[in-house]
Amino acid sequence: MLTLGHNDIMLGCRANDWHAALDQAAAALGEAGLVAPGYRDGLYDREAQSSTFLGNAIAIPHGTPESREHVKRTGVRVLQFPEGIEWHDGNRVHVLVTIAAQSDEHLDILRQLTHVLDREGVADKLAAADSRTAVASLLSKAPVEARLDADTLCLKFPARDHLELALAGAARLRQAGCVDATFVAAVAEQTPRALGQGLWFTSSTVGVNTPALSLATPETSLEGHQEPVQGVFCLAAQGDAHLGLLERLAALLDSGSGEALFNADVATVLARLSGESASAQTVRARVLNAHGLHARPAKQLVQVARQQTMPIKVRLLEGGGEAVSAASLTKVIGLGARRGQLLVFSAEGEGADAALEAVVGAVGEGLGEKVLPFEEGRDHTQDTPREIPLEPLPEDTPHQAVAASPGLAIGPVFVMRTPRFEYAERAEDAVHEKRRLERAIEAGIEQLEALVRSAPGGEVSEILSMHEEMLDDPELHQAAREGIEEGMSAEAAWWAAIDTAARAQEMLADRLLAERAADLRDVGRRVLGVLCGVELPTPPDEPYILVMDDVGPSDVAQLDTQKVRGLLTARGGATAHSAILARALGIPAVVGAGERVLGLENGVELILDGERGRVVPAPSLERRQRAELSLKERERLEREAYAARFEEGRTRDGHRVEVAANLGNTAHTADAVERGAEGVGLLRTEFIFMAHAQAPDLDTQVAEYRQAIEALDGRPLVARTLDVGGDKPLPYWPVPQEDNPFLGLRGIRLALTQPEVLETQFRALLTAAVGKPLRIMLPMVKDIAEFRAAKSIFDRLLAEIPENERATDVQLGVMIEVPSCALLAPSLAAEVDFFSIGTNDLTQYTLAIDRGHPELSAQADGLHPAVLRLIQMTVDAAHAQGKWVGVCGELGSDAQAVPVLVGLGVDELSVAARQIPLVKARLREFDLAEARRQAELALAQSTSEAVRDALERC
Ligand code: PEP
Ligand code: MG
Repeated sequence: MLTLGHNDIMLGCRANDWHAALDQAAAALGEAGLVAPGYRDGLYDREAQSSTFLGNAIAIPHGTPESREHVKRTGVRVLQFPEGIEWHDGNRVHVLVTIAAQSDEHLDILRQLTHVLDREGVADKLAAADSRTAVASLLSKAPVEARLDADTLCLKFPARDHLELALAGAARLRQAGCVDATFVAAVAEQTPRALGQGLWFTSSTVGVNTPALSLATPETSLEGHQEPVQGVFCLAAQGDAHLGLLERLAALLDSGSGEALFNADVATVLARLSGESASAQTVRARVLNAHGLHARPAKQLVQVARQQTMPIKVRLLEGGGEAVSAASLTKVIGLGARRGQLLVFSAEGEGADAALEAVVGAVGEGLGEKVLPFEEGRDHTQDTPREIPLEPLPEDTPHQAVAASPGLAIGPVFVMRTPRFEYAERAEDAVHEKRRLERAIEAGIEQLEALVRSAPGGEVSEILSMHEEMLDDPELHQAAREGIEEGMSAEAAWWAAIDTAARAQEMLADRLLAERAADLRDVGRRVLGVLCGVELPTPPDEPYILVMDDVGPSDVAQLDTQKVRGLLTARGGATAHSAILARALGIPAVVGAGERVLGLENGVELILDGERGRVVPAPSLERRQRAELSLKERERLEREAYAARFEEGRTRDGHRVEVAANLGNTAHTADAVERGAEGVGLLRTEFIFMAHAQAPDLDTQVAEYRQAIEALDGRPLVARTLDVGGDKPLPYWPVPQEDNPFLGLRGIRLALTQPEVLETQFRALLTAAVGKPLRIMLPMVKDIAEFRAAKSIFDRLLAEIPENERATDVQLGVMIEVPSCALLAPSLAAEVDFFSIGTNDLTQYTLAIDRGHPELSAQADGLHPAVLRLIQMTVDAAHAQGKWVGVCGELGSDAQAVPVLVGLGVDELSVAARQIPLVKARLREFDLAEARRQAELALAQSTSEAVRDALERC
């Protein structure tokens, strides 16, 4: 939004006529470096189309869209003419607010100025103002209304009481950037007040950046108070910005319609709080005018509304703004509606149909302007980036991005550009549209079922099944049906429902959950494709490297692994489902490489290094030959390693190092054993919890763990207790919003706040492993006190459960992930049975680099000498007490790190199942003495780069 600075205002201007005034305005923009001289003609052309006089002695000259090429920078210049000038339409003007805008920013200015138009005497005040401050304050005081929109709502939250709901609402406001942590703390300290009709209210002025209102509703109605709890409003108050909203809320309660908010969806809540009556008829209409509802079309709309026999209200579908009178010009302009946005008109009583039809018809016809139909996905609204010609990537030059799936690929690229879906926005026959949508959803589900059947299993099938569930979501269907009932086509209504849900998902603080928005859009496109009969572009018959903007998970699942040698995306991170799938399918992948990769010509050769996260387009012959050699070498090694996968993990001279598998799903245990796993070295049990809508009970957990134990057939299972909280939330275990979730309530800290959950998990593991070796480890432990707290529960269970009903070969250990634990390893080693070093987190906390940071994570290298020293301290302390040490972070499968870790004395390496044969093969390449030399060499360096260089040379 444009704001007025003092330097933007020029006082005491004089002009004989409007031409001279406009020339001065153009010159002022030019002198400020905002426009080139050609813009002046644009200002004249615009006035020739229609006057930019706004009212109250203000005109807002701005160029035509064609003249935007002369705009260098967006900005405004305000010229005050105390004596006034006669504008060409006969109005008297004292102030020109002259706008240089690259897009539709003039709408924001218009919006800010509408309050001036309402006020009496402003024209005289503007003429008489003798300071810039006075002019600025007359023009700039935009009416602030507290924010209320889909992002400030928190509906159907699994809370247990009104306090938790109040906190959920406060946390939502914090996520939306309206408040800071002090606000959340202030809300936590007070008890919500009952408003009646099941609604409650809490508020604070502390830590408010933007005034806003949140509503949190419970999953199911909460009883147990004097009053039922159906929803808690949480207000971030500042000035009187919330008064309008609270008045509308009071009116809702006065009319006894508070229940309208129970179990309501986002659209209904916003409609009720906008002041739109539940009994009113509503229709939607899309703004088609190229520059939105600016003064001219707004005037037309107001005229049509005034011709009707009943009051008509209008609001923007997006956001939670008030439903205003469609007969008020300032209110209609104040909506600031842009092309593509949906207006919701409402009217009550007999004849409402006809009245609404008249306004919708007028909007559809362009309100006096020539308009083009709006095509979702094709139209250039504020949400769709302008097409900027992509500068090609330089040839034979490495381009760095994010490593997402290891491996090397060489081949021609095939750039898959997102298909365009073309469809009409509106449709007459709602019954027919609903049927079309139903059929398309069914076809989508059938496609997914077929994909699940032909999928290689594991994560691929799981994600495709999750997509099937998403497609079956009754709320999505309902939202789309409502859109159709309001006159949208099946395509438009479906995409609006998908987009709304995906946006809500994207707002979530947790990166993993936010990335699920890609899944939703993927599912949405599948159905849209069926509706529009659009098929994805056909890839070549020869093997290729697939380049996409942001590959959808089901795109990856459908990849022909025989043909797709590698995957390169412009967007996305290493934790996206597509990256996880690429790893599961063994396809080398580099992600987040930027838009320029989309400019690659189809057929251009590319080297893709999924290990280092690098691509080289059009490599020189020499570089290509080098890459081909290492690829051949790698393939040979992989074949040999796989053939020898069942050999024990040993160095060349026979030193034993166990090689186990990291798993998140017990169903994959048999596959890991088939790949040569000597046990499971890390079972991330949180994935089992995440796969359930509520905490799995004892029997469910026993069944899960038994699946792994049986498949292991006597090999050891190392299960990590629940590691959630912070950045890995469990929906049914809410944790207040934290400034630094990585340093917050997570891992064992969180588990100890609900010891009964930990106890059930211990009990389930012990019960499932009767007669089998079981190791349990605790995540994110910082010192011996946390270990002892968990151990006391564990020991009690050992005493309580008869020996024949539980595992007897059990060990309890801790993960070394927090530097304090490595530093204090001697005190821990005396009491624990083993250590397993989580190098992913240990590196993150030692180097203070977020392991998922899009730019920095490449520097979070576990071969940093500081991390290696902590590993050395851990191993020395453990061995001094006769305890064993494993490494279960990614470092364990890093070919350069393997000898270093063995040289430091690590006894077990637990790695991704696919990596097991390679790690065993790597162990066979060196002997213990060599490993020790490499460890010493690494410890003597001062940076991770130096470590890698030194290791490469030796
Ligand atoms: C680690 O931190 O290294 C680890 C293995 O745990 P996770 O990656 O699950 O945090
Ligand atoms: Mg960890």
